[in-house]
Amino acid sequence: MQYTVPRGPARGGRAGEGAQIALESETMETQRGTFHILTWGCQMNEDDSEQMALFMEQAGYQMVGAACDADVVLLNTCSVRRKPEDKVYSKLGELAEAKRFHPHMVIAVCGCMAEAEAEEIGRRAPSVDLIVGPGRASEIPSYIEDVLANRQRPGLPHRPAVHLDRSAAPGEGATVPLRAVGRPVKLRAYVPVMYGCDRYCTFCIVPLTRGKERSRPADEIVREIRSLALAGTREVTLLGQTVNSYGRGLPERTSFAQLLRMIGDIPGIERIRFTSPHPRGFTEDVIAAIAEVPAVCEHVHLPLQAADDALLRRMRRGYTVERYWNLLCRLREAVPGVAVTTDIMLGFPGETDAQFEATMEFVRRARFDAAFMFAYSPRRGTPAAEMEGQVPHRIKIERLNALIALQNGISEEINRSLVGTVQEVLVEGRSSRNDRRVTGHTRTFKTTHVEMDGPNAIRAGELVSVRVTEGGLTGLVGVPERREA
Ligand code: SF4
Repeated sequence: MQYTVPRGPARGGRAGEGAQIALESETMETQRGTFHILTWGCQMNEDDSEQMALFMEQAGYQMVGAACDADVVLLNTCSVRRKPEDKVYSKLGELAEAKRFHPHMVIAVCGCMAEAEAEEIGRRAPSVDLIVGPGRASEIPSYIEDVLANRQRPGLPHRPAVHLDRSAAPGEGATVPLRAVGRPVKLRAYVPVMYGCDRYCTFCIVPLTRGKERSRPADEIVREIRSLALAGTREVTLLGQTVNSYGRGLPERTSFAQLLRMIGDIPGIERIRFTSPHPRGFTEDVIAAIAEVPAVCEHVHLPLQAADDALLRRMRRGYTVERYWNLLCRLREAVPGVAVTTDIMLGFPGETDAQFEATMEFVRRARFDAAFMFAYSPRRGTPAAEMEGQVPHRIKIERLNALIALQNGISEEINRSLVGTVQEVLVEGRSSRNDRRVTGHTRTFKTTHVEMDGPNAIRAGELVSVRVTEGGLTGLVGVPERREA
């Protein structure tokens, strides 16, 4: 297997610069072939896939809707848990079969799993041609050209070309997202504001796959969001692995709270969300910005992971249960009606019955609007994978099921309690299940189905005041109360 250092626009300046200039100054190259992207994982990965698609189109490739119709298949992977990795290997098996009938196909594994598992992928999936770590979107078309050129050279054994970030200095090689130029109009857009993570929680692979923290300059982010607003975007979600660490290390320091206020001043942006903040750096100025900036939505996703101090220490989370609780109370006091969602991990090494019960009790008291709940899965290379006291799978699943039942009951109760209230809904389009309804989200991020307003169709992009008539586990149903002028 051959490892190479990053090249092209990532060297000698801001990564992605060359590609951005090319986008603005060159016309589209001639058709080179077709591509398809499969994406697993978080919103950051979804945004990375969008960038990959733009760079591929810029290089002359055309997107198609099915992997079997594509000349190039890009798998943008996630390695936070075992399950998405298993799905990738299973998909690679299917693609190997497809490649027998389409031997010209190029298969590329990109993203976090590529970074963490390059050797293993090369061993288990010999049909893979290319392995590319995160932050290399602008360079993928040229890597593909190299693969195709090498196929023309007789006698070369088939080995995947591997392009990882390991050899790059922190921040170097990160691809700066394209501005709105060339993006399809989106009502709701993701905007990465920082990359990587310096926290090193003992269970998490992210610092190993996405590298050290680095923030984008505030003026660049504001320019991108202005362009999005001009193109029709009404809501932005600011992305970062620990998004409230934003600004550290920038030559001109801008805090996350300042960034929220700057974006709050952009005309046309009605809603600002962010994910995921870390409880440790959730400062008073961020709470004040949520309370005071009208566009910042009343929804905070605040990962808890566990509600036992000894477990939190072993996880290296950097806060105590009391500190998290106090933050939750201050947030709820400063931002009336705020919806709080969370992440909870069950079965971390050494988790006892009593510690699990403490987490259950905390969930009863905290009454989160919703939670992303999952069983701990060991990640190779992380300290927790080597810890003693690994919890048997059966116990993890029992605990997970008990927590899901508890949280589902709470989510349903909270949503039912909203019946009769009026909520502002940003309409995103027709409901997929009922063509007499449109679907959108409240400011508190509740999925809401809105009965059509008689003959007056409600269009995507409208902000509608909706009186809630039903509340259930997954969201709300309501009728329009008043339409914006
Ligand atoms: S804060 Fe912890 S869990 Fe979150 S990305 Fe960083 S290391 Fe992973």
